[in-house]
Amino acid sequence: MKAEICKYPDNAPAIFSFSFDDGCYYDSTVFTIQLFEKIYKEKGVKLKGTVAQTVNFISPKLKELWQSAIEKGWYDVAGHSVTHCISYSSQTPVEEIEKDATETYKALKEMYPSQKIATFFTPGGGYDKTGGDVIAKYYLANRVAGERVNYPGKIDWYSVSSFTAKMDRDTKDFCDYIDETIKTQGWGVQMNHWITDKTEDVHHSQRKPTFIEECYYLADRVNEGLVKVVSFEEAVLYLRKAEMTTLEIEGNTIRLKSKADAFHLRDVPLTIAINSDTPLKITENGVTTTYPSQNGIVLAKIVSQGTIE
Ligand SMILES: [Zn+2]
Repeated sequence: MKAEICKYPDNAPAIFSFSFDDGCYYDSTVFTIQLFEKIYKEKGVKLKGTVAQTVNFISPKLKELWQSAIEKGWYDVAGHSVTHCISYSSQTPVEEIEKDATETYKALKEMYPSQKIATFFTPGGGYDKTGGDVIAKYYLANRVAGERVNYPGKIDWYSVSSFTAKMDRDTKDFCDYIDETIKTQGWGVQMNHWITDKTEDVHHSQRKPTFIEECYYLADRVNEGLVKVVSFEEAVLYLRKAEMTTLEIEGNTIRLKSKADAFHLRDVPLTIAINSDTPLKITENGVTTTYPSQNGIVLAKIVSQGTIE
């Protein structure tokens, strides 16, 4: 039997992730959730983002909004420092960076117990290897600016590139980045802050009309099977586990041999493509799932070890 670990979840040809910074834009978040709900109703496509939160920015009112958004599956959460006023670089004593990285995790985990908080976005511009080395001790990835599409196997995990929303960018600029992601079968990541009706730029704002048009454009490409939307955190969990894992087949057993020691990755399922013209029944941890066959391929989800009936 021939089988392999798929490059992306559900064997998607390319993936796209929305990442939102700071966590403090109340109106913009309400608007985004309403738009995601509308698109889900109309197109059947579930868009999802990762919001990197600055601990001290989260008022009780914001916390309530985020808890509901997380529960409904529109967002998951990453770390973005305690105060935002810290440079993750050699300008800051390394003990202070350590303290910030760990306190951010602890505080966000308390606010959102269901969340892994496995990824980080460095606040502000200050970032270098000193900061990256600390982040690497506590998080699986760090998102920065950079404008490029990312490619599995070539990703610097502590400097994951993203396309930055800016007021002077029009719909075409955003759609072009999605097209580039699709054309090159890469991982596109977008960085957003405020989504607004205003016309002056604050914190890399995106205008509402361009965001609406972009999201519809993306949903249509998803429905054409060209790309899959996964949150930044989900993408990191999948890609990091996949790059540390090899697949073994022995008789009827599929085993994922993983060097992934990070506890965040243990329960992450990988998509396995198995050559088979007939559906397969696979049991893992007492749960049996029947996976259909399409064009001679069965796509199964395995966490560590499955048995084929
Ligand atoms: Zn920020």
